[in-house]
Amino acid sequence: MDFPDLLLPTQSELKLESLTLDPDSNLITLHLISTQTTAHCPLCRHPTQRVHSHYQRTLKDLTWANYQVTLELHLQKFFCVNAACHRQIFVERLPALTVPWARRTNRLASQLSQIGLALGGAAGARCHKLGYSLCPNSVLNAIPFTPLPEPPPPKTVGVDDFAFKKCLSYGTLIIDIDRHRPIALLEDEHADTLADWLKQHPTIETLARDRSKTYRQGMNQGAPQATQVADRFHLLQNLAEPPFLIPP
Ligand SMILES: [Zn+2]
Repeated sequence: MDFPDLLLPTQSELKLESLTLDPDSNLITLHLISTQTTAHCPLCRHPTQRVHSHYQRTLKDLTWANYQVTLELHLQKFFCVNAACHRQIFVERLPALTVPWARRTNRLASQLSQIGLALGGAAGARCHKLGYSLCPNSVLNAIPFTPLPEPPPPKTVGVDDFAFKKCLSYGTLIIDIDRHRPIALLEDEHADTLADWLKQHPTIETLARDRSKTYRQGMNQGAPQATQVADRFHLLQNLAEPPFLIPP
């Protein structure tokens, strides 16, 4: 295998046609053609060899020494020959090289992802001496989406009302006190609505509330196993009211 071929992201589906070097701008451009003769429709996975037309795509790749590398790919569009498929024409996929719509190779995206995870967006974008000219968002966008871990089930929650329209309509706000996070907004402040929500969260051990009889009723219905306590705000508020006001 020739030397430049060894540096390609994948050797099995691409053939190097030519290479141009621009020393003034430290840029290498590789002109590559696809060697695939059969492609699979991305929708129905049906194989096809019927070529529709050709398509050019540009990707950024890892740097070679101090040279930025651009891949000029000459790909094919195929007909899907499955009459039942909704996709009639598609561009061939090169999963070992890149993903659809991406503007960089998988291996470059992986390297940028590692930089972003280690340094964050702003510091990662300052790594221009590695040969990349990036903005902070580009570094962060290279990090693959990973779902946040599921929060633990709530054990201690606070319940209070909030106004959609003051004196006219109110909802109920529920806070996970252990995590200091709001976890639910209920559409009204009725006992049944609160009870229904509490029944779906049987892990709750302690409920903090004001002295509302409605909330007490909802908690008794929905979480009879939980201990009800007065929340600190209302406790202090009530203490400051007569006849509990301590005279100076
Ligand atoms: Zn198809």
